Amino acid sequence: MARVYNWQIGRDMSYWYPESRPEKQFAAVFDINKCIACQSCTLACKTTWTSGKGQEYQLWNNVESKPYGFYPLRWDLKLLDMLGEQQWDGDQYRGQTIFEAAEAGERVLGWRPEERDFAYPNVGEDDCAGTIETGADFQIPHLAWFFYLARICNHCTYPACLASCPRGSIYKRPEDGIVLVDQQRCRGYRECVKACPYKKVFHNPLVGTSEKCIACFPKGENGLQPQCFVNCIGKIRMAGSISRPEDAKPENPIDYLVHIRKVALPLFPQLGLEANVYYIPPIHAPTPFLYQMFGPGVAAAIKTYRSAVDDMDLAGLLTLFGSSERVMPRWKREGDWTIGLDEQDQEIVRVPLKEPVYLRGPFDEKYQVARTNCP
Ligand code: SF4
Ligand code: SF4
Repeated sequence: MARVYNWQIGRDMSYWYPESRPEKQFAAVFDINKCIACQSCTLACKTTWTSGKGQEYQLWNNVESKPYGFYPLRWDLKLLDMLGEQQWDGDQYRGQTIFEAAEAGERVLGWRPEERDFAYPNVGEDDCAGTIETGADFQIPHLAWFFYLARICNHCTYPACLASCPRGSIYKRPEDGIVLVDQQRCRGYRECVKACPYKKVFHNPLVGTSEKCIACFPKGENGLQPQCFVNCIGKIRMAGSISRPEDAKPENPIDYLVHIRKVALPLFPQLGLEANVYYIPPIHAPTPFLYQMFGPGVAAAIKTYRSAVDDMDLAGLLTLFGSSERVMPRWKREGDWTIGLDEQDQEIVRVPLKEPVYLRGPFDEKYQVARTNCP
């Protein structure tokens, strides 16, 4: 095993291969507070990539209701149980990652779901945790709560799927860090299905190989965001690339949200994969639950997000989500406008921070018509 640095756990850790970072790393930010579980993302992916035979239960993108939704069944609870105590000391993780906790002869601590675990993608949907007792007031965090967690492959810096493959069929593209399965080499041993803690590799029983999210790389190569991003009704998503923390650039929207404002956090950082999809945590759910899910930065992230109402830069950048099909590697704010830019600083899109308000009277002089819906 090599020693590699994982900034999300604030320390070196053991990994199967030496540290080798891509030229650019594909990354994304999802704002959980805006997701409405419409599943447009799920369907956009399904109709683009997984409508073939043998792919019926493949959801490269899924949206589950936490705390009782899972796809596949109990994907996170089961591994968290296996991993045991997960202690943080400030920003440094003191417990074991799934690479360090692997049993002798295994490369990764993992488990392989049964076929039936994939059969109920909407289990637990909209189920609440907690109860409203008699006389309980409406408060934050809510006593009764749930939230929607949209998930794709994290295109991890230290992928467990890649580490586990005995055939060397899984690779990370040096140009953008996207993790792919070589369909010619794969023999369907399903070690990756067992190893990926997020359960984002799927076995195709008809083809006999493993298949997974490809971050819509043919679109990315043309400067476009993936299908699940551009079809997102809630405009919760932004795709781009992330730098190492010490190289963070404020003009890169993903760097700004993750490294500079620290408002977007990785999912289960303690597992040790340096996952590259980052979440703005839900402000209405209890912090201890979110702490386990997003790590020790969660309280500060929620505080920062709540302050966006008085923070023109943060509020401005959040308005760029879902505003263009193109990837926006840079951004800036000019007064009441936020502008998405390309690599050459050419404008892609501009979005107003404040929507204009038009007051329309009951009679329209220009068209000489009365508006019947005006009070
Ligand atoms: S999320 Fe899973 S499938 Fe995706 S790169 Fe990480 S380990 Fe591999
Ligand atoms: S399309 Fe967007 S809002 Fe709808 S479920 Fe997916 S992530 Fe949530």
